[in-house]
Amino acid sequence: MSFNGKTALVTGAAGGIGAAIVRLLRSAGARVAVADRDVSAIEAEAGFPGDLLDDAYADGLPAAAAQALGSLDILVNNAGVITRGNVVNTSDADWNLSLGVNVRAPFRLCRAAIPIMEKQGGGAIVNVSSCWGVRAGPNHAVYCMTKAAIASLTQCMGMDHAHQNIRVNAVCPNEVNTPMLRTGFIKRGFDPDTAVAELGKTVPLGRIAEPEDIADVVVFLASDAARYMCGSLVEVNGGKPVG
Ligand code: NAD
Repeated sequence: MSFNGKTALVTGAAGGIGAAIVRLLRSAGARVAVADRDVSAIEAEAGFPGDLLDDAYADGLPAAAAQALGSLDILVNNAGVITRGNVVNTSDADWNLSLGVNVRAPFRLCRAAIPIMEKQGGGAIVNVSSCWGVRAGPNHAVYCMTKAAIASLTQCMGMDHAHQNIRVNAVCPNEVNTPMLRTGFIKRGFDPDTAVAELGKTVPLGRIAEPEDIADVVVFLASDAARYMCGSLVEVNGGKPVG
């Protein structure tokens, strides 16, 4: 897959999956703008540090990326946060954080990116949902809801914007070996390496995903090889559909 001459904006670029997406896109020839709270350590063609809970920042990112790179062909809404708990023990702060980062920000980014892509004659948006966006999961009610919301938005946008030659799809990973998963283990008092190895035994393929396993599918969806895919939710789970 060649991305020569293509431009991309990736959010959550400093995280596990985001960093792998940026590396893969750049190695395939894309010029990439990265967004995260701190982008100073990321090799990329442009960097936009900021907080996605800041609406003005989220609204402005696609235009800023297009200006820095000369165009915006690909948007990857990868940034995300996980909050734990059932509805009864979910605080207002966790509700606002989850909805803000996982739903409100990608909505705003898509809303700003689509007119830019339309003017250019098309583009591709890839959202990072979750296996918990397509099926229920225990004790993460609001996280699951946000991932279902972005999955639904993906299906709707895939339908609404195909006529503008803008393809919108999502990946739905199960467990991935990233800081998000590992810090969760640490918070609960587990050794992350042991916990990742134990979790791997529950996956038919014998291991949980590495960030590159997800990045490969994100980049495929962003590529011309996925030219007839619009509104698809692609599960990437090693044979384990539920979390
Ligand atoms: P990660 O924690 O390594 O990376 C997430 C990135 O998002 C971080 O760099 C973080 O700084 C950034 N981010 C979070 N809140 C932000 C904010 N307010 N402003 C700007 N940036 C912000 O996690 P990851 O596992 O790489 O997650 C990437 C995506 O994959 C997320 O959407 C996550 O929900 C999804 N996902 C992860 C797993 C998993 O097991 N790791 C499974 C399914 C889906």
